[in-house]
Amino acid sequence: MEWLRPHEVAMMRLLGQFVRAESPSFDKSAVDRFGRMVAAEWKRRGARVTLVRQRERGDHIRAEWNPPGNRARGQILVLGHLDTVYGLGTLAGMPFRLARGRAFGPGALDMKGGPVIALFAVDALTATGRLPQKRIVFLWTSDEEIGSGTSRAVIEREARRSDAVLVLEPAAGLDGRVKTGRKGVGEIEIIATGRAAHAGLNPEDGINAIEEIALQIARISRWNRPRRGITVNTGLIEGGTRTNVIPENARVLVDVRAVRTGDMRGLERKFRALRPILRGAKLQIRGGFNRPPMERKSSAALYAKARALAKEMGLTLGEAYVGGGSDGNFTAALGVPTLDGLGAVGEGAHSPNENIVIHTLPERAALLAALLATI
Ligand SMILES: [Zn+2]
Repeated sequence: MEWLRPHEVAMMRLLGQFVRAESPSFDKSAVDRFGRMVAAEWKRRGARVTLVRQRERGDHIRAEWNPPGNRARGQILVLGHLDTVYGLGTLAGMPFRLARGRAFGPGALDMKGGPVIALFAVDALTATGRLPQKRIVFLWTSDEEIGSGTSRAVIEREARRSDAVLVLEPAAGLDGRVKTGRKGVGEIEIIATGRAAHAGLNPEDGINAIEEIALQIARISRWNRPRRGITVNTGLIEGGTRTNVIPENARVLVDVRAVRTGDMRGLERKFRALRPILRGAKLQIRGGFNRPPMERKSSAALYAKARALAKEMGLTLGEAYVGGGSDGNFTAALGVPTLDGLGAVGEGAHSPNENIVIHTLPERAALLAALLATI
């Protein structure tokens, strides 16, 4: 912490460079441009950098740091992502700027601050000679904000070799709580097929797909158990062509979340078991959970350790359970101890107000450094 505090301005400067390199998930060349910037920083610190090349998405970056003289027993995986939810050009209306102790800009919090924290954590360990005993692998992926389609296998492969996974997603709240649990998240599509007919001439020949979907929605919305952490949200609905036509097609997209793995499986089974309600209608069910729940038991020990380390630095480290998923869900589901929300502290992720509390940058880097040195 003593070493990092005077480096607050340097951290902020690097954050500015990172935020100015826009990196929307769907723009490969933009993500790769930012990726090259991050890769160069790791090379400068003596890490062995390899690219996991992608055709459609940005390349993932693996930076392996084997501190000189370490005994290399085991591995710690530090996870972060390069991509943001902001389209190219957002910066024009939402420039990187500093005001009232905050740094604003697209992706500042989620998560351009993450690599800044990791890079300076390594600097602090090197400068103070407090070198980790284990090999550290930093994995910077390119598609977290769009479901980690191309990175999931890479993350899981690396996690299986690791004794612990530290995730640099933003902290919860301005008091910087780490995330010790996350809901499992999924998306399910229900497609109804009926039969078209004239609403005036031969309505009896029609089968109304919209009605079928409406009846199904009434059924599935009863599966909500907010107290138990199960939510079923019909988020998008589509169907029909004109008012005087009995609609042949309709579909609904449903967001599903669960705290427990058992509830996730149960929900998937219930969706698969849905049958048509209207005579002659057909139903198709697609999708499912794409991120399993991160249950608290996978974080408990790491959280206790982080809390004790924070206390030594004079900080109180709280914990939070959140409904949103991250790549930490994948690693926790493999049974690898995982602690999430170790990234920047701020507000307004995914919004025009997105910002970081600047003075917390050295604190977060110190906490990460302490974890790396003692796990
Ligand atoms: Zn994120």
